[in-house]
Amino acid sequence: MANAILVLNAGSSSIKFGVFATGIGTGGETDLAFRGQMEGIGSDPAFAVKDAQGATIFEHDEWPRGSTLTHLGAVRFILEYLKDRCADMPIVGAGHRVVHGGLAYDRPVVVTPEVIETLTSLVPLAPLHQPHNLAAIRAIAELDPNLPQVACFDTAFHSTQPRVAQLFALPWQLTDTGIRRYGFHGLSYEYIAQRLSGFDPNARRVVVAHLGSGASMCAIRDGKSIESSMGFTAVDGLPMGTRTGALDPGVLLYLMRERRYDAAAIERLLYKESGLLGVSGVSNDMRHLTSSSDPRAAEAVELFIYHVGKFLGALTAALGGIDAFVFTAGIGENDRRLRARVCEQAAWLGIALDPEANECNGPRISTADSAVSVWVIPTNEEGMIAQHTASLVGLP
Ligand code: ADP
Repeated sequence: MANAILVLNAGSSSIKFGVFATGIGTGGETDLAFRGQMEGIGSDPAFAVKDAQGATIFEHDEWPRGSTLTHLGAVRFILEYLKDRCADMPIVGAGHRVVHGGLAYDRPVVVTPEVIETLTSLVPLAPLHQPHNLAAIRAIAELDPNLPQVACFDTAFHSTQPRVAQLFALPWQLTDTGIRRYGFHGLSYEYIAQRLSGFDPNARRVVVAHLGSGASMCAIRDGKSIESSMGFTAVDGLPMGTRTGALDPGVLLYLMRERRYDAAAIERLLYKESGLLGVSGVSNDMRHLTSSSDPRAAEAVELFIYHVGKFLGALTAALGGIDAFVFTAGIGENDRRLRARVCEQAAWLGIALDPEANECNGPRISTADSAVSVWVIPTNEEGMIAQHTASLVGLP
C-alpha cells in the first residue's frame, strides 16, 4: 500500500494543499494524487479539490450563515476530508511551505516545539506570511499530534550565497542582528535546478526567472544559489503583481515626512497597491494587461520586461557568464510574447530564441546554436516539499 504526504501552503485567507503518493515506483519519487484549497478563511469559506489532471472532484461551500472559519477550523475540515479520501493511502507526514527560516535553518526541518518557537520569533521578518504558515503547523500539532511535520523554507536554498551577496551596506551591528539579504522562492529554484540538471547537465551558470504574481530571479552556480533579486523581504527586486520591487528608500522617507504616510500606509503601498496594478491602474494580472488597450497597461508590461532584462544582466555578472536561462511560474510558463521580448532584449548575451519552440512552451526554446540555452520549466514547489518531507520522515 502506498503512503501519502500532505503538503500545505497556508496564506492569510486560504490554505492550499496537495496529497502526494509516495513509496511507489523505484526511485522513491512522490506523485501528486490530488490537490485542493480552502478559500475565504475569515469570510466566506469555499472548499474545492481537483485531481492531478485538474478536474474538480469535490466541492463544498455551504457553511452555516454568518459562520467564519479560522485556520484551525480549515485544517480540521481538510483533515476530516482526507480521512475518507485517503483510507487506502495513509498520510504519514505533513510538509509546510514556510516563508522564512531566518539564520537558523538552511534546510527543511522536522517540526518540534523548539522549531515552532524559533519560527515564531521570525514573524517580524515576514509578518504577512509567517503567522499563517505557523497557524497551519499549530493546527496540525493540535488536531493530529502524532503526525510528523516538516517545515520547508523559501529562504533555505539561498543560504549558500556568498557573504557579499548577503550584505546590505548597513552598519555591521545591524547586519549582525539578521538585517541582511535572504532571498525567497527557494523551493521553486531548488526544483528548477534539479529538473534543469536532467535537461542540460553541462549548464553550470544558470539564471532562473520565477515570474508569477510574486516574481524574483536567481543566479545558480553548480546547483547552488549565489545571488537573487529578492533581499530581506519578498518586496525587493522585480516589480510584481501588486508589489513595488526595488525602490529608492528615499521615496519612503519623503512619503513619511511630506505626505504623512505611517507604517501601515507604507506597507499597503509596497505590497498591495503598486507593481503591475499600481502602474497600470488596470489589473495585477498579466493576462488582463496584455489584452488591454489602455496605454498604462502597456507601460506596466514594458516596465516588467525591462526589469527582467536588467536583473538578467546583473545576475549574469554575478555568475561571471551564463550557460542557461530558465522561465518559470505563471507568467514565465505561459506568456510566449513576454518571453520573446525578454529574449530579444537579451540578444547581447548571445541568446537566440527559437520562435516555434517558444510557441509550444518548450521545454527548450533557444535555437541549437544559441550561446545560452533557454528553457521553460513548470515549477513544482509542492512537489519539492513532498520530496523533502518524505525523506525527513524516513520514506520510502
Ligand atoms: P503565484 O503562485 O505567485 O500566485 P502564479 O505563478 O500562479 O502566481 O502566476 C500568476 C501570474 O501568472 C498572473 O499574473 C497571471 O496573469 C499570469 N499568467 C497565468 N497564465 C498566463 C498566461 N496564459 N499568459 C500570461 N500570463 C499568465
